[in-house]
This record gives sequence, structure tokens and C-alpha cells, in this order.
Amino acid sequence: MSGSQTAKKYEFKAEVKKLLDILVHSLYTSREIFLRELISNASDALDKFRFESNRGSEISDKDLPLEIKIEFDEKDKTLKVIDTGIGMTRDELIANIGTIAKSGTEEFVKMIAETKADAGNIIGKFGVGFYSVFMVAKEVEIKTKSFRIDEPAIKWKSDGLGDYELEELEGQHLRGTEIVIHLKDDSAEYAQKWQLENIIKKHSNFISYPILLGSEKINTVTALWREPKSSIKKEQYDEFYKFLSYDNDPPMDIIHKSVDAPIQFNVLLFIPKKSSEFFWYDRENYGLDLYVRRVLIQHKNKDLLPEYMSFVKGVVDSEDLPLNISRETLQENIVFSKIASSVTAAVLSYLSDKTKNDATGYIEFWKEHGKIFKLGYQDFTNHDKYIELLRFNSSTCKDNDELISLADYSSRLKDGQKEIYYITGVNREAIVLDPHMEIFRSKGLEVLFLFDPVDEFVIQAIRKYKEYDFKSADQVDWKKLSDLKNIEEKKSELDDLNKDDEKHFYSLLSKMKSILSDRVEDVVKSNRLVDSASCIVSRDEGLSASMQKILKMANKEMGEQKKIFEVNPNHKLVRNLLKIFKVDANDDFIRNTTEQLFESALLQEGSLEDPHKLVRRINQSLEQSSEWYVEVKKIK
Ligand code: ADP
Ligand code: MG
Repeated sequence: MSGSQTAKKYEFKAEVKKLLDILVHSLYTSREIFLRELISNASDALDKFRFESNRGSEISDKDLPLEIKIEFDEKDKTLKVIDTGIGMTRDELIANIGTIAKSGTEEFVKMIAETKADAGNIIGKFGVGFYSVFMVAKEVEIKTKSFRIDEPAIKWKSDGLGDYELEELEGQHLRGTEIVIHLKDDSAEYAQKWQLENIIKKHSNFISYPILLGSEKINTVTALWREPKSSIKKEQYDEFYKFLSYDNDPPMDIIHKSVDAPIQFNVLLFIPKKSSEFFWYDRENYGLDLYVRRVLIQHKNKDLLPEYMSFVKGVVDSEDLPLNISRETLQENIVFSKIASSVTAAVLSYLSDKTKNDATGYIEFWKEHGKIFKLGYQDFTNHDKYIELLRFNSSTCKDNDELISLADYSSRLKDGQKEIYYITGVNREAIVLDPHMEIFRSKGLEVLFLFDPVDEFVIQAIRKYKEYDFKSADQVDWKKLSDLKNIEEKKSELDDLNKDDEKHFYSLLSKMKSILSDRVEDVVKSNRLVDSASCIVSRDEGLSASMQKILKMANKEMGEQKKIFEVNPNHKLVRNLLKIFKVDANDDFIRNTTEQLFESALLQEGSLEDPHKLVRRINQSLEQSSEWYVEVKKIK
């Protein structure tokens, strides 16, 4: 080739340099995936070409077959990946290869640098696949000619170190792209036929264009989703899933359906065994591949499934959409939206069947994907189906692992029970110790345990299950609970207060109210506590304590909601306070104990701002009790 005098040097953008530096200077175990990335780019380029051609654009070299060729030279240590796809103009080369336009790239670079993760394994997921070639190459040339008539062929050349060169190629060139890879010495194996054949079979078997190694076609090129279910082996599904997802594990579930009326479509979906650990780094990397009559229209279409099913991978193919449909107008297409709602319904009904046919499998699904799936509370269309698929831990479960449905809960409702009770907490152990649980435990009433902050949003958004409202344990009206039939009743070990003491008890409550003054709305006698001396409750019409906490974190402007402090007259500590109170209503012990009980309740609720006073008080009272203890034990 001539023309080196016209070659121009360009520098890579900073983020590309960082990425290249990582790829060039590190040794990765999965270097072979560079070939998957190049073949995938070739296939994308062929898709794009077919798309242009279908919509009647003017194109060059109309009659070239759509295919991918792999050529190799073991002696020279070179490898070529050649496609007859859309090609690139000079400007496109600069934009596509010299810069990284995608979000997520920075996170990718950071993550690789921080975690020393194997870049080869995850690079494809981040859409920076081309550069992976520098794991094996000391120099790469791209010779490319755009499908646009009259565009010259361009050569790009780089050693992946800091800059690249561009020059116009002279003479006749056909449409498409040829990637020439000069392999590093330690990567010479990638110029061997058996090795290439292995890698292509392993990673690129389902590419929908022929991949020719020399003159031999290597890949299968079948549209698996169009085949009858009965003819497909589990291994074929698994292999296809692996190709789609880059996942090393086989899928947890396979949903394969063929629908003929009213609209024809085939759908093949997979639920991964593991939730994607990069999900939050990589929010955009989800969606289903949309085909029309076996022709790929769009990778990762995000409108075929709602976001709360974004862990689902797969393919949808329809006869009833026009081949030249544009991605921009898909959303307004009625046939497309009908397909999308059927696909969503198919997933929901698959999951609903799974709850019945494979209950343990469903729990596994929930534990892996529930965190995302529960965000479906915004899907009003499928509300009734969605709500049955929710799972919670509850007071009837024997441990953390057991989960129940709302249907399970409602089958155990007591006579007259109109509400489904729930309580929030960091874990089961914490909830079990929460004073608000005491009334439910003493009456044998079931309470849902919500550990994930999102759970309460879900509960508030769905509002009801059948005719039952959800009620937070710290807002429940104890009188309603007492009206329920068929409930157990645990009596306090202490005798009821006599008339006279009851009067004193109410005066004690007023005293406590004056001590806590504007920190509480009221101090009242508790009818819900059994084992604890006191607790804080929220007004029925206000927000639950945990909701207040969440909102406060999100928005500092929120006004403080006043708390109601409940005191248990049937608790030993309170009975002793009463004795002291009757002798001296202004005894310091009453003030200190009131402060202590109130701050302890705030601490349990998670709303105590500063623990210093509380700790000082505890330590003082420990000091006192240690003196009494020494006395009682007659220790010298
Ligand atoms: P991605 O494929 O996720 O976009 P890559 O790093 O693999 O990321 O490729 C970057 C871009 O370079 C592609 O989006 C495409 O525009 C362009 N490109 C790469 N290979 C080819 C090819 N063989 N033909 C045409 N364009 C290509
Ligand atoms: Mg790519």
C-alpha cells in the first residue's frame, strides 16, 4: 500500500488510553474473548447493513454475500476478521474507535483497576469490546469502506499505546471491514486453526451470519427460538443462553413460547441463575433482542419487558412487524405494544406456575431476583398477578429463609381481622426484640417482617391485598386488636392496679409528659406492651416511624412528627416508679428513668440523634446498682 506520506496521527481520548493501558499491560485468563468481540462487531455491522438495505438506502457492492471470514497465518502470527457489513467512513472511525461514547466505561475502568477483576470476562458487557483485541495484539490495522457510495476506503493503524494513524487507501476496495491483527508472541496460538475453531464454536456459534474459517463454515446459524420446543435439547438452550448473556452458569429458567393469534410471535427467554453483580454499574445493559422474520432489528430493546423484569434475557421474533420498521417508531406501533404486553404476561404466568409446580425453585428465584422484581409495584396493568408473586418473611416463619405470600397470610387471618400487619427492621433478630411486636405475639397474630427499605414502598403503593389494608405495627390501634375473635391472650403476672394506684399512675403519666415536654405529643397508658416498660407509637393517620426515617434521609425539610409515648402499667419498673412517685413526685429518679426510657425507645426506632446522654445515664445507674449488688452479696 502506498500513501504513508498522507497518514495522519491522532491521539486516543483519555478514557481510551486508560482502558488500553489496562488491557495491554495485564495478563488475563480469558483473552480468547477478543475474537468473540470482533465477530460480534462484524455481525452488528452486517445487521446495520441489512437494515440500511431494507429501508432502501443507496448502497455500494449490492451483491456481496453477507458473511464473516476469518483468515490466519501461523508463520506470520497474523489473524484477520473480515466482514461485508456497513463499514466506516473516516469520521466514523474517529468517533467509534478513537473515543468511548458510552456511559459505564468509566465505571468499568475503575472497577477493573480496583477489583482486579478479569477484564476479559466482563468487557463485552460494557460495550468496549473492540479494545480487547489489544490483549493479544501488538499492532492492529482496520481497513474499512463504508456502504455509502463514493466514500473512500480508510486504514486505521495502532499499537494500542497512545495514538493511532489514519490514511486513505488507494485503488479498488469492497464494502466492509477487515481487521488485521499482528499477534504478540505469547498469543501466537490464536493463529492456529483448531484453536480458532474451538473459540468460535464456544462463543460465537449462534451468530446469524456464516462464519467462514478458510472456506469452512464453522457456526450453526439456526434461529433456535423458531424451532419446535420438542426438538430442542436442554444443552442447545444452555448454549444459546451462554451466547446471549456471557453467563458461565446455565439459566435458572427457560421460557419458550410460540404464539399464532391474534399476533404471530416466538419468544425465547431466560432467567439467569445469579442476579448480575454489575447491575447497578450497568443499568443500560438489559433488554431483549427483537427480530422480524429472523432478521435482527434491535439489540437489547427496552420496551418489550418492563424494567422490573430487566434480569430476563432473550429473543422475540415476529412475522407481523414490517422488516423496515424503524427503532424510533417501534413504541408507537400497535402490533409491537401488543407483543410487548403478551411477553410480560408470559413471564408473569410462568412465574405464577412456578410458585405452584416448584415452590422451592420460586423461593430461589425470589432470593436472587426479588430485589428488582418487587419494583413491579408500579405496573398497574398486571397488579393482580404481580401481587400474588410477592414474598415476605413473617412471624410465623421459623427462620429467615422461609417466605410466605400474601395469600398464605390471608388464609390465616383471625375472625374479624381486616388488616395485614407489618413491621420493619434490619433483621429478624431485631424485629423479635421490638416492643411493638409484643401485642401481636401475646395475641398470636401474624406480622409481615420487612427487611428491605423498598418493601414498605411496595406495601404503601399496593395499599391493599384483596379487601385487607396494610397496617404498620407502630400505628396499629390496640382496640381493634382486642375486638378480634379466636385470639390467644397472655395475662400479665402482676395484679391489676387498684383504683387508687390507677389515679396515681395517671398523675405519673402527666409528670412524665411535663418532663419530656415538647418532644412528645402525649404520654399514655399502654395496652399493647407485655414485656417492655414503654414504647413510641405513631398516629394512625401519619407516617410509620420507618417511613419518616426514609423520608427524612431523602429530604431534610420534612417537619418532625410528634410522638406518642406509651407506658406499660404492668411492668415492674413502672410499678417501682409509681411507689417512688407516691412518696415524692419530684424525685430525680423519676426524671432520669423517664428520660432513659424515652431515649431508649428513640434508639430502637433509629431516631436518637445523640447517644451521649443516654450512655452517661446508663453508666451512672450501673454504678449505683453495682454498689447495691456489693451490699446485697455482702462482698467486702
Ligand atoms: P460496541 O460494539 O459495544 O459498540 P466496540 O468497542 O466493540 O463497542 O465497538 C465500537 C464501535 O466501533 C461499534 O459500535 C461500531 O460502531 C464500530 N465498529 C467496530 N467494529 C466494526 C465493524 N467490523 N464494522 C463497522 N463498525 C465497527
Ligand atoms: Mg462490540
